[in-house]
Amino acid sequence: MSWSIGIDLGGTNIAIGLVDGSCKIVDREIAKTRAPRSAESLVETMALSVRELLERNLLDLSDLDAMGIGLPGLVDQKTGLMIEAPNLHLDHIDFISLMGRHFPQTRIRVGNDGDCAVWGEYLAGEASSFESALLLTLGTGLGGGFVCEGRIFRGATGLGIEPGHIAIEAEGGPLCTCGRRGCLEMYVSIRGLNRLIQEGLQGDLPSSLRYSIKKDNPSGNIKAFFDSVRSHDLPALQILDRYTGFMAAGIRTLTLLYRPHIILFGGGISQAGSILLESLRKALDSSKSGDYILSLPPVAISRLGNDAGIIGAAMLHREGTSVR
Ligand SMILES: [Zn+2]
Repeated sequence: MSWSIGIDLGGTNIAIGLVDGSCKIVDREIAKTRAPRSAESLVETMALSVRELLERNLLDLSDLDAMGIGLPGLVDQKTGLMIEAPNLHLDHIDFISLMGRHFPQTRIRVGNDGDCAVWGEYLAGEASSFESALLLTLGTGLGGGFVCEGRIFRGATGLGIEPGHIAIEAEGGPLCTCGRRGCLEMYVSIRGLNRLIQEGLQGDLPSSLRYSIKKDNPSGNIKAFFDSVRSHDLPALQILDRYTGFMAAGIRTLTLLYRPHIILFGGGISQAGSILLESLRKALDSSKSGDYILSLPPVAISRLGNDAGIIGAAMLHREGTSVR
């Protein structure tokens, strides 16, 4: 049996999985990220968890094929450096070298977390029967990645794609975390949807949603919002139409650039499931013109959830091979 370790370094938790040769997580450890702290200290925590996992499963370091770390920021594939990760308050970190000090005999890879998630779905999840897949992670921000014919697409420079920061408004629009305005992230992430909810409730129409929205609970508001949609609350339905309208605009651009065979959605908002997809499909249908230029791929919810990132990280070493 071949084994590898996948690490998903998030802003809140570090999830570490022991993954078998068929892309199944057989055991896992969760540690707190507790950012901000030094990269050395983060790596120390990861290394402890890896040893714990191996020991618990009666495995030795020599049983490991490889180890991969999914990082929440910009990763330069050519140098292996994590250029920046605002949530961790870290920049220009060489995680491969730092981890290599603890595990000098193990192959170590790093990747952007969106890239790892789409790689996991491609190998063992919702995209496993497609030649290519684009994933959008609808979380606090908007991440994602694109896989095509057995490789993660990272652009010509190796910096990876950033679908959250494509502009869908040329002028104005809300200020994004990247410092620019009008980015897709500001409309379709949890932060973006919360803003659309606030705006949508400013009218006079009665809505039960007004009583369940709280200022300091953006994720909780998303759940309350979809509950209102399910009970056919009119303002909530209008907000959903507006939300999926922005998403459709982003998807049209991304489809024209990448031509994926399928588009998947992960992250907190994707848990809304079919009610989100139905509205999105309606918005996409309204933009069809009957020509071949914009032939839209199917859209679906990712299957592996948070596990996709762990599996994808563990399997980074398989990139470019025909194994799937
Ligand atoms: Zn931006």
